[in-house]
Amino acid sequence: MRFVNDLLQFVFPTLCSHCQENPIFSRLPLCDKCKSQFTLIDKRSRCLYCFCLSEGELICNRCHHEPPAFRAAASVFDAEGPPFSLLKSFKSGRQDLMKEIVSFYIVQLSRLNWPSFDFLIPVPAPFTFTSPVLRITKMLSKMTNVPYLQALKVQKPHFKQSFLPIQEREKLSSNTFTLKLNKCLTDKTLLLIDDLMVTRKTLQRCSEALSLGCPSHVYALTFCCYE
Ligand SMILES: [Zn+2]
Ligand SMILES: [Zn+2]
Repeated sequence: MRFVNDLLQFVFPTLCSHCQENPIFSRLPLCDKCKSQFTLIDKRSRCLYCFCLSEGELICNRCHHEPPAFRAAASVFDAEGPPFSLLKSFKSGRQDLMKEIVSFYIVQLSRLNWPSFDFLIPVPAPFTFTSPVLRITKMLSKMTNVPYLQALKVQKPHFKQSFLPIQEREKLSSNTFTLKLNKCLTDKTLLLIDDLMVTRKTLQRCSEALSLGCPSHVYALTFCCYE
């Protein structure tokens, strides 16, 4: 059977999920050329708080006027190119890519020089059992030995942020996320986990909700982000 599969793959190769040009011959849905284009974001080019492009300034204009509710946010990759295609493949059902995805979170975490964390907190989704973010958080917890806590819940009905235009995302209401009452976070250092950071509004609202538990700091890490 293995021989038949190999033969089929040779005659009708699957194409790279990013460039759609080159055949792939490994488990990753990307060709060798696209695999060589994974460049982690260098934090020195980004705002210390929100991780947007800060044009040489330590803190961007926006955060200067209104500091976010989180201590710092960061992302592994920009939301473009092969890394973004890898995330999209994972979210559309390629669960076997989880280890690769989570490994990139860990590499970026080690480069950020953030403090050690007491809990990983997944950004909640309306339907927990299908949440890729929860699955990422669980694997990250296993690989880093930092416990995870589902400390937040999301108000229902909650339209998935990814379906909304940017202007609508900015309006995300302050009671979208709430802290579960039985979760005591006093003086804890928390790391919020999400897969994609677009307007930073979700991280802002989650951090506001977490602040009711009096943590010492909230950080946030996503796989991809828009500048
Ligand atoms: Zn390719
Ligand atoms: Zn900023």
